[in-house]
Amino acid sequence: MGIEKALGDTIFTTQLSKAVNWARKWSLWPMPFGTACCAIEFMAVQASHFDLSRFGAEAMRFSPRQSDLMMVMGTITRKMVPVLRKIYAQMAEPKWVMAIGACVCSGGFFRSYAVQQGIDRIIPVDVYVNGCPPRPEAFIKGLMEIQKLVERESLLDRKRRIEEFYKRLEQISHETDYEPADQILR
Ligand code: SF4
Repeated sequence: MGIEKALGDTIFTTQLSKAVNWARKWSLWPMPFGTACCAIEFMAVQASHFDLSRFGAEAMRFSPRQSDLMMVMGTITRKMVPVLRKIYAQMAEPKWVMAIGACVCSGGFFRSYAVQQGIDRIIPVDVYVNGCPPRPEAFIKGLMEIQKLVERESLLDRKRRIEEFYKRLEQISHETDYEPADQILR
């Protein structure tokens, strides 16, 4: 680049999308959707010993309209499914989802008609964190994976990925009782 050659190390150039993604990566505002024990573990992640603010993600708002990272923690019963979908829909794009703990990822040991067997049949999940409950380090690792995703994915890529998710959901809709074409999620 000519300008960098002329001015040496005093400046650097980048792309707007890279700068925006870098800012997003370090300012994620989580929306904790905690229903059971995993959410208790999350409190430790927020406390001083593990300190999520080192990653710029300490601003818990409990308000979907101010958040961009949904953290789902705890057993999700079928009764909670419409609530989860609504809160997800109320979050503005771009938004990301972490499925935290065995219950959220797959129903865990609750192989029951009353428990949702994995939230990725309801909303698009970006990162899965295993464990029952996951250790705080696993929460942090999951957040770092989200940061990597935020950094490298353009909004167009993300749009394509989400559209693919809903297409797939429509294909498997016969396995669920839910209406995948729910307009609130589009
Ligand atoms: S994964 Fe384990 S710790 Fe987490 S909510 Fe389920 S039962 Fe509780």
